[in-house]
Amino acid sequence: MNGSSKLTDRVRGRQDLSTRLFDRVDEALRHALPGRCAFCLGATDGEAPWCASCFAELPWNLPACPCCGEPQYGPVGRVCGACLRQPPAFDRTHAALRYADVVPGLVQRFKFHASPRAGAVLLALLESGLSEADRAWPEAVVPVPLHPRRARQRGFDQAEWLARRLARRLGCPLGHAVRVRDTRSQRGLDRAERRRNLNEAFRVRGALPCRVVLVDDVMTTGGTLDALARACRQAGAEAVEVWVFARTPLDHD
Ligand SMILES: [Zn+2]
Ligand SMILES: [Zn+2]
Repeated sequence: MNGSSKLTDRVRGRQDLSTRLFDRVDEALRHALPGRCAFCLGATDGEAPWCASCFAELPWNLPACPCCGEPQYGPVGRVCGACLRQPPAFDRTHAALRYADVVPGLVQRFKFHASPRAGAVLLALLESGLSEADRAWPEAVVPVPLHPRRARQRGFDQAEWLARRLARRLGCPLGHAVRVRDTRSQRGLDRAERRRNLNEAFRVRGALPCRVVLVDDVMTTGGTLDALARACRQAGAEAVEVWVFARTPLDHD
């Protein structure tokens, strides 16, 4: 067998794999059809894209540090040691779920296949934990910007997708931030190094109102959101909250 036919075989193998993946994604998309639970395919009542038992079994991020959303295992969420030692530039984190169980699959479907149905489920779950007071709080919603190069590779900006719809539903404007500096991977860096790495990574276009919500799908270390919150404060925000769909435990990044 010569080199080029080996290559052809490899390409064909990859196509087979992607066809199989496509079938799985198609199946997953059917799971989010109206009237069907997004997780078990069972019938739902009402408007929610899930059934009551799947909803109850989701890995809700409770308790958690009210400041950074770090998952905790005590009876009540308390401000964690890391936030006490070095408070982040945001005041509060609302992270609906932990990045565990069915959650990573849902996020991957949304992120890598730009599935609007998976996105709608993510948004509905994020919103399900918000009180009326929470919903009335923001004066602007700012998505965490993707690096332009990553946006080109992936062709889909999931934070922008979520933030745009959330802003519309809350009736407040969408703010815009840009990444002005490429940042190395945060992997393997300690908290102080991450902070330095992300320093001045973002710039906000125009002025922001007083109360701003930052939106992303998944929050890992919080370093990116901390840097973006600092940029928002430089642009006029006085109070900054983080609203994300899911939170990984610290140092999971
Ligand atoms: Zn279900
Ligand atoms: Zn904390």
